Amino acid sequence: MSEGWIGLDQVAWLWTAERGENEMFNRIAPVPAAGASSTLPTSRRTFGRRLGLSAAGLALAGCAASRPSADSAPVEAPVDQELVPAQDAASQAAVTPDAALALLADGNARFVAGTPARRDYGGQIRATAAAQYPFAVVLGCIDSRVPIETVFDQGIGDIFSARVAGNIVNTELLGSMEFACRLAGSKLVVVLGHTSCGAVKGAISSARLGNLTQLVQKIDPAVEAIEGERDVDNAGYVDGVAEENVRMVIAEIRRDSAVLATMEQERAIRIVGGMYDVSTGVVRFI
Ligand SMILES: [Zn+2]
Repeated sequence: MSEGWIGLDQVAWLWTAERGENEMFNRIAPVPAAGASSTLPTSRRTFGRRLGLSAAGLALAGCAASRPSADSAPVEAPVDQELVPAQDAASQAAVTPDAALALLADGNARFVAGTPARRDYGGQIRATAAAQYPFAVVLGCIDSRVPIETVFDQGIGDIFSARVAGNIVNTELLGSMEFACRLAGSKLVVVLGHTSCGAVKGAISSARLGNLTQLVQKIDPAVEAIEGERDVDNAGYVDGVAEENVRMVIAEIRRDSAVLATMEQERAIRIVGGMYDVSTGVVRFI
């Protein structure tokens, strides 16, 4: 019996030669990364569906998600589209750090295009009740416009979400990410900043308010590092500081978490940054 996957834009076909059938799986393809093939579960069909990974997503790994067309309209997932199962031990084990990044890039492309994967939350709740196998942890801002699972089109049990104003790190957040990767098996750390960030604006304007004072001061080094008119209405400056803050937070993670730094050096995980544009929905990985 021979099987072959054929990537066709957003669609992948599983060709089963023995049965002489073509079966279409909307936006699904297997993980292609080196090292993954040896651990692929026996059922590629289930595996691919669980990952929800398309050929486009693979191409997007390590680079920006595609920009939406201006006239793209939201559409409902077709009712006959295959349901995406929750992650399980086998699918998590087979995901490489590069493939994890591709899964997020592909999910963001679906979000932007208005073509989310079809999920049965009830089924995913039942499937993950006993254990969870998320493939990534995302450190993002609390901003209401950047709901992490939504902008990456992920379901229940797919990713860990750590959220704090300004996507800064502290001991508790480092510990959370260490849990996600070292104990719970995630393969990717994403620090996700965003445009028009209120915490960044607070740092630029030296905001002082209760405990918020200490929080925004953690962004001061990024403010100092970026040249430009320090004005919260200077969008280019604000977003430049936000991106610099992402880079500095990644440096802090590597400096202050021996657990994560070692895992990255051993290529067990990747640590990457991203910027979410609140006006387009697009995540640009940096
Ligand atoms: Zn923010």
